[in-house]
Amino acid sequence: MDRDSLVAAVARQGALVRELKKNGGAAKDITAAVVILNDLKAQLNALAVEAVGPVLNKKALEDLLVRKMFVVPSFEIYGGVAGFYDFGPPGAALKGNLLNAWRRHFLMEDDVLEIECTNIMPEVVLKTSGHVDRFTDLMAKCTKSGECYRADKLVEDFIENLLAKNGSTMSSEQQEKHRLVATKAESLSPEEMHAVIQEYGILSPGHGAPLSFPMPFNLMFKCHIGPEGSHVGYLRPETAQGIFLNFRRLLEYNAGKIPFGCAQIGNAFRNEIAPRNGLVRVREFQQAEIEWFVHPEDKSHAKFDLVGDQLLTLFPKNLQLTTGKTIQLSVREAVKQKIIANESLAYYLARTSSFVKSIGIDMERVRFRQHLDTEMAHYACDCWDLEILLSSGWVECAGHADRSCYDLQVHAAKSKVEMVGTLKYDAPRAVELVNIKLNKGKIGKSFKSDMAIVNKGLEALSVDGKAALSFEAALAATGSATLKVDGREFLFTRDMWSATKVTKMMSEEKFMPSVIEPSFGVGRILTAVFEHTFYTREGDEKRGVMSFPPIIAPIKVAILPLSTAKEFTPVMQQLERELRSMGIQTKSDASSVAIGRKYARVDELGVPFGVTIDFETGTDKCVTVRERDSCAQMRIPLAKISSILKSLIEGTLTWKELSKTYPILEAKKEE
Ligand code: AMP
Repeated sequence: MDRDSLVAAVARQGALVRELKKNGGAAKDITAAVVILNDLKAQLNALAVEAVGPVLNKKALEDLLVRKMFVVPSFEIYGGVAGFYDFGPPGAALKGNLLNAWRRHFLMEDDVLEIECTNIMPEVVLKTSGHVDRFTDLMAKCTKSGECYRADKLVEDFIENLLAKNGSTMSSEQQEKHRLVATKAESLSPEEMHAVIQEYGILSPGHGAPLSFPMPFNLMFKCHIGPEGSHVGYLRPETAQGIFLNFRRLLEYNAGKIPFGCAQIGNAFRNEIAPRNGLVRVREFQQAEIEWFVHPEDKSHAKFDLVGDQLLTLFPKNLQLTTGKTIQLSVREAVKQKIIANESLAYYLARTSSFVKSIGIDMERVRFRQHLDTEMAHYACDCWDLEILLSSGWVECAGHADRSCYDLQVHAAKSKVEMVGTLKYDAPRAVELVNIKLNKGKIGKSFKSDMAIVNKGLEALSVDGKAALSFEAALAATGSATLKVDGREFLFTRDMWSATKVTKMMSEEKFMPSVIEPSFGVGRILTAVFEHTFYTREGDEKRGVMSFPPIIAPIKVAILPLSTAKEFTPVMQQLERELRSMGIQTKSDASSVAIGRKYARVDELGVPFGVTIDFETGTDKCVTVRERDSCAQMRIPLAKISSILKSLIEGTLTWKELSKTYPILEAKKEE
């Protein structure tokens, strides 16, 4: 039923229920009528959620993706393993083009450096970054089968079902309450998660059996480096760490200038508890990340004005917790109203928005969702996810986080390598510094075997002037103060440590940069491209089309001789040569199948333009060009075709503009 018919059906059924009640109808009749009414309301609610964008024929898309070898299950002949996929020829080419577009859009535009680091990292790196201790998801086991589930996903799915089934009988406050539990599920502690599972009576989906107490499960793949087995390593769970480790050299390479950015495209590995939805949640996936290093007190962006007027669909944290509705704001206004924390973060949200638009994402199905305070890593100041509406719901496809200086700080402290930038003043300035004096002998005697952990606390004080002065204030007031490190406490006395404020004339300052990190999941972006560009030809469900924009299309031009006639071959080869010399990927089909079938084949691969060589080509020296989405055709001289195609592909010429020179031919049915 379409939307209007459903609205009418709900109204009619509602009237029937009211009439039955008014006329004292039998209880069982009233109940039956209410059940029907609720079902109709639920259908209407579901439509409202899906109202954005056309309905996706998911089955047809999935079939096409595998059949045409865009994406296929890895190890397929051995039955496959959940969460692993291979890219076939058009998939690999599409991904390559997408990454080149990404490089051009983000890296070339802002002189961002690019590096490539190893996939395997020694334990010390990931211990220091916090991944060994904290890179976990809560897992609940089915007490009957032992199957493991990601607890937050169980809660989210349960609540989604509950709302779809019974939402229409609940008050809006009740619905809101449930939705909030789902929103916060990812950030719950094991105890809180257990309480939610109990409260809702959530059972294992497979066997309907009770679930175990939720336990943290570390998502990293552990391995051993070298033959002895004592040197522990991990497959990296994100590409970012390699950039932090190289920070000192990168800064030097960049002649000491900050702000600057460094990017990395590469694979990340996460032993997901519940891989699902194709490329959306897998165990090995590609990331494209940028670390944009800035002064912690100056996160302005030199190019902010260029994006200031751009409109973004934002879903700020306060609206997630109240109206549940997004707002549209200009980038400038969002920073002015302090909705987005700073210019650099806002700049990247704007750049991400224009990037996804350029690769064919439907902007009606895009929003930037701010992390709730409970969701954000403790060191981060502000985070916004690029979320895209897919057939499985809103999916985070890229994260944008202001990670402050956390990563550099922890690696500098552990490695003892200084990771700071230098800001040279125009003229010397009076700067207040904190001078620290340590009585090493006394401290060593007092804390003996605990010195490693005590030193960690002292180092933290030495880089944080404010913390040092408040520690000093405590010592001055009572003669003793407690240093807290990693949950432990150490009692310091006045004679061990002191700090004084001093004023010095300085011509420069050292600072530890903050970092703004846009982090893209390439597979998720590709999934969005697949879902948003796929459609079937009107009236023919079997004719699928991938409507890729030319910049990312794996093949740009199909060369299609009308028959196997020999005289077509030299023209076909000449066109191939010309286009390839311009760096344009082509695909020729000189088989004997009908031209309609040939078009259908290349539509499935998302080829934007088809060139047909026919029996008149020999005499009029022209070919017919067909545009994939409109199927419109034009007759164009062979001498001009290659350069025209190049302009169409690069976007310097539109099909509409071209039709002013070469009129659109009368439509013929494609068979
Ligand atoms: P995160 O470091 O968790 O913020 O992830 C950065 C980006 O990587 C996310 O925005 C996703 O697009 C992507 N991503 C994270 N986990 C997975 C996964 N298991 N499979 C595919 N993509 C993922």
